[in-house]
Amino acid sequence: MDYKSLRKKTGHSLLRSIKQELSYINAVIAHPTTVIYKHKEFHLVPPKTFQISPSMYERNYTCLDHPGCDLCCVGFHSLFLSKSLSKQNLDQLKSMWVNMISIQVQGRSNLYYTFNHQNPSSDCSFRTSKGCSIYKECPITCLFPLIRFRKYKDEKIILMKTQWTRRWAMPCPVEFKPYYSHDQFLQDTLWKFQNLERYMDALELPHIVRHIINVLSMRITGELDLDSLF
Ligand code: SF4
Ligand code: SF4
Repeated sequence: MDYKSLRKKTGHSLLRSIKQELSYINAVIAHPTTVIYKHKEFHLVPPKTFQISPSMYERNYTCLDHPGCDLCCVGFHSLFLSKSLSKQNLDQLKSMWVNMISIQVQGRSNLYYTFNHQNPSSDCSFRTSKGCSIYKECPITCLFPLIRFRKYKDEKIILMKTQWTRRWAMPCPVEFKPYYSHDQFLQDTLWKFQNLERYMDALELPHIVRHIINVLSMRITGELDLDSLF
């Protein structure tokens, strides 16, 4: 793969990568939330409706079926929230060459370690020839390739699985397969949302992730009843 042209086609600046991170937070917050990075202020408003598409249960894939595929690890900045890391990964990060930035969430400062994948000399040190060495503990920006929290008109989120829309730029080898059982779906998918739950708890933000996990566990599709939660 020509990583130079991939970086050019799919590259995200640090600010755009932060906005991507905020889009996950925004999709699952329970209350309006203010985030400040340097002089930029973001006002996140929780979705009015949250729907789960049947594609979540129908489309089975894992990047681990494509050992060594690291196309998603190129071209953006990954953000590791220090508070949500295990001690082992935190120690490893501290020993690496990474940037540190502070992002204020609801008045609380949060330290993030960042890798700039746009610069080949500072690519993520967790990349190996077999793929991500911290796959189950990767940061939120890496956690959901092909799982989307798609936002409509700033008020509705639909959770779905889709291929990369720009496949000409991101030649992802994944072909979706059916799940052979609901248990296989649970094993494959729930841990990602459990990681997101830990992340939101570390930010001390009220959120709907536990509700999403419960609904996914029951294989429910359609609109979540958010009014009954708060
Ligand atoms: S943490 Fe893993 S998935 Fe994320 S950029 Fe690094 S190697 Fe890739
Ligand atoms: S989503 Fe596709 S392109 Fe990205 S790492 Fe997984 S297999 Fe590779």
